Amino acid sequence: MKYAGVLRKMSTELGNPIQYYLDMESDFLVVNQLLNKKIEITFQKYQCLSCGEDKKIFRQGFCYDCFYKMPQAGDWIMRPELSQAHLEIEDRDLEFEKSMQLQPHVVYLANSSNVKVGVTRKAQIPTRWIDQGAHEAIEIVEVPNRYLAGITEVALKEHVSDKTNWRKMLTNEVKDLDLNMEKEKLAQFIPEEVQPYFKDLHSKEVELDFPVLQYPKKIKSLNLDKTQQYSGVLIGIKGQYLIFEDGIVFNVRNYEGYIVELKV
Ligand SMILES: [Zn+2]
Repeated sequence: MKYAGVLRKMSTELGNPIQYYLDMESDFLVVNQLLNKKIEITFQKYQCLSCGEDKKIFRQGFCYDCFYKMPQAGDWIMRPELSQAHLEIEDRDLEFEKSMQLQPHVVYLANSSNVKVGVTRKAQIPTRWIDQGAHEAIEIVEVPNRYLAGITEVALKEHVSDKTNWRKMLTNEVKDLDLNMEKEKLAQFIPEEVQPYFKDLHSKEVELDFPVLQYPKKIKSLNLDKTQQYSGVLIGIKGQYLIFEDGIVFNVRNYEGYIVELKV
């Protein structure tokens, strides 16, 4: 079977294991069903997720011009502490920023290779954790806007990492930790104005089960700009990565805006 379309990150559904889906325009693929099958990926061209043109993708599925223009790519996305919609201050499009920033946000701890702190809209839980390949996670605070979540993350980053080691995540060099204990240790560092939102006894560690038949010992990332065609047997899916038998891993999210053909 052949499928073609512009890549977007896989959508997911919590389950044992997690279910992954890929929208390929006329077809909706259940990626879990491709496990143990040979898949050929061929790069065709770019299609910016905003202007739709065949221009080299810069970041987040956008071409360079769109990345610096679209409200979906403002600095407050990657740095929540820069959020200003609660002050009625516009970055690129105040209405859009209000709709995104002025809603419940969660600061969490996720363990994908090491414990890291992160911020997400409440509506994105557990999607965000799945996308990061975390095998366990816990909520620390739930606040009414993105700014409060951002300043909490900045304060906690002094005491815990905010990065994932994706190599360890994909080779499964991970430990099970008591995230409740980690959460209690960090509680004292939460900024004073956010203290009332601390989820003391109200959050529970969530375990996530990824569809991986076998973890590779060594991995190498597929770079579609350099290697425009690749084929291999799919042996796992974790985070937004497809993991192949020969140790090649493909980060679907990094290739948003690329039109590819998939042959199964
Ligand atoms: Zn564009």
